[in-house]
Amino acid sequence: MKAIVIGSGIGGLFSAGILSEKGYDVVIYEKLAFPGGRFTNLEYRGFQLTTGALHMIPHGSRGPFAGMLRKLGADVEIVDSAPEATALYNGEVYEVVSDSFPILTVMKFAWEVFKEKIFRKEKSLWDMVSGFDPFTKKFTRAFCGWSLSILPEDMPFSRMKKIYDMVRRYRGPGIPIGGCRAVIDSLIEVLESNGVKIFLKHPVERIITDGSIVRGVEVKGERIESDVVVSDIGHSLTAGLTQSEDYMSWVENLIPSRGIKISVAVKEPFVGHTGVMFTLDTERISGMNEVTQADENLAPGGYHLVMTHQPVITSNVRYEINLGLKDLKKLMGDREYEILAIQSYSGDWPVNRVSAGRDVGFRTPFENLVVVGDGAKEDGIEVEGIAVGVVRAMEEL
Ligand SMILES: Cc1cc2nc3c(=O)[nH]c(=O)nc-3n(C[C@H](O)[C@H](O)[C@H](O)COP(=O)(O)OP(=O)(O)OC[C@H]3O[C@@H](n4cnc5c(N)ncnc54)[C@H](O)[C@@H]3O)c2cc1C
Repeated sequence: MKAIVIGSGIGGLFSAGILSEKGYDVVIYEKLAFPGGRFTNLEYRGFQLTTGALHMIPHGSRGPFAGMLRKLGADVEIVDSAPEATALYNGEVYEVVSDSFPILTVMKFAWEVFKEKIFRKEKSLWDMVSGFDPFTKKFTRAFCGWSLSILPEDMPFSRMKKIYDMVRRYRGPGIPIGGCRAVIDSLIEVLESNGVKIFLKHPVERIITDGSIVRGVEVKGERIESDVVVSDIGHSLTAGLTQSEDYMSWVENLIPSRGIKISVAVKEPFVGHTGVMFTLDTERISGMNEVTQADENLAPGGYHLVMTHQPVITSNVRYEINLGLKDLKKLMGDREYEILAIQSYSGDWPVNRVSAGRDVGFRTPFENLVVVGDGAKEDGIEVEGIAVGVVRAMEEL
């Protein structure tokens, strides 16, 4: 049996790993000159910046993502964050633990969860927390911005509850030694030893369909047949490649999430730990990390690499960047810092191909075509949701 994987992002590589273990003959076609998609390093003056991700694995060595790496035999060392998170609030830094939230808020939350279970009336996360104390409201906004690149107004509470349950179960983040690229390199080593072939600079131009069956793909004008096609490029781009009007109209309203990342060099540590620092007093920046606290080689000697993240709220990206820069200036005060890169993510290179909580699953109108990656993830933060989604999709094939 032959499987074609379109795209070499995390979703594509995980799928190729599982399929090759199942005995499929797997070929990956990647449009770009490098593998890894939005989860790999971009070296700049000795700083390991990235094509997307903030070098963080949302549940560190304990979650589904790390579990998948172990299952496939990929050797990646993950430093679990300690503390997992702090919050900068009213100029003070607090460690975020369950005691950080007032007891009344905890009780109100339990009551809201109970009501949701009984009445099943959908409300947004923001509606849910609107009567809570100011710290919890600001923390909720920062958490959504940092972890999901959305506003709490756009997150259905029932979906957020699943993410919350995962955080309780698997706990907070971790940083892979070597950054995102170490994960990709290790996965590729495993895939190659399983006989998977990866063709870079080979964009898939068309998915060849015959009724409800996919027959293969077209690459560089050549027809390549396969029994199964796994697409790691989200439903919208996949539908476009099939040229199926039904599929295209089914997915036309899927909204990606957009974000802005600012990579900053500092000499004196700013965050000072391996976790996330949520920023509650800012207008746009939701949080930041300092990945060199886990792996000093992610920056040249004498420097720390700080990455900030913010969701894009209006349609004016330049305006959003300016607000982020204003926040950064306020956060840094009179410390010395240098901006290394400002990257904005939208369109075909977004934060998530489908905004968190709005995912529509891996199925397509075609029996042997599935979508993986963050365009079809299950409930779970970022690459954790991808790992869970890949498992479900591969079970179906
Ligand atoms: C700013 C930012 C910060 C983030 N931070 C984190 C984080 O810290 N932790 C975390 O878990 N997640 C984070 N994420 C999300 C995470 O990076 C993505 O969810 C994940 O990398 C997406 O993987 P994927 O498999 O869905 O697809 P992608 O990485 O998008 O891979 C798809 C691949 O398909 C290729 N492709 C496209 N079209 C074709 C075609 N026609 N033919 C062949 N190939 C094609 C693309 O070139 C690409 O390489 C962040 C994202 C951004 C943008």
